[in-house]
Amino acid sequence: CGIVGFTGTNQDSTPILLKGLEKLEYRGYDSAGVFVPNADADADTLVREKGRVADLEALVATKNISGTSGIAHTRWATHGVPAVKNSHPHVSADGRFYLVHNGVIENYLELKQKYLSDVDFQSDTDTEVAVQLIAKFVTNESLSTFDAFKKALTLFGDSAYGFLLMDQAEPDRMYVAKRKSPLLIGVGDNFNVVTSDAVAMLDETHDFIELHDGEVAIVDPNRVQLFAADGRSVTREPFHLDIDA
Ligand code: GLU
Repeated sequence: CGIVGFTGTNQDSTPILLKGLEKLEYRGYDSAGVFVPNADADADTLVREKGRVADLEALVATKNISGTSGIAHTRWATHGVPAVKNSHPHVSADGRFYLVHNGVIENYLELKQKYLSDVDFQSDTDTEVAVQLIAKFVTNESLSTFDAFKKALTLFGDSAYGFLLMDQAEPDRMYVAKRKSPLLIGVGDNFNVVTSDAVAMLDETHDFIELHDGEVAIVDPNRVQLFAADGRSVTREPFHLDIDA
């Protein structure tokens, strides 16, 4: 339902992500979650809660969560009841990849049977199939994360998606894909953001790069790389949104 992501160099990402989720509340949702990568084994990285963003914030306040990047989501359940285990971000079985998703993967059951019969699923969502597929392609086919992401996208047919993916091995980087579901990249000074609605990130930036259907992007704190579905690099200037938060 709602997506926000942030990657920077020195700011604490968690408050930015939670404030972003608050701004997306008007869209309606049944649960919410946040993932903030942190190499410290004592750190909490994934926090999810059923109910309101305020409930997620109360839970986050009891955790040891901090970092300079992260992804967050408000969920409007389509597959799987509202529950913590079905909330996003979803995580691959190896614990390496984290994914938030807006939309529906129409053929998820078929993909689950064909590619993932050996995987122990933790949720009832269509979304988890995507993150498990990416992990499987990285492990079994030695693909890069970006190539595994793009390969997974080719399997989703006519499905609608906005995806934001993080790899624990590259904690400053977000992988982005969009098709028939809104997603924008916001450009900042030493940071970049991704959001399904500009309103969620107006406190951070007013400069946004539009993503077209089928495009994918790699977003780092100081760089945005945009690609067409055929793999060609795309250059697109940000537009300036002249409204207040
Ligand atoms: N289909 C996904 C789910 O049920 C995403 C729903 C959404 O867009 O929030 O978890």
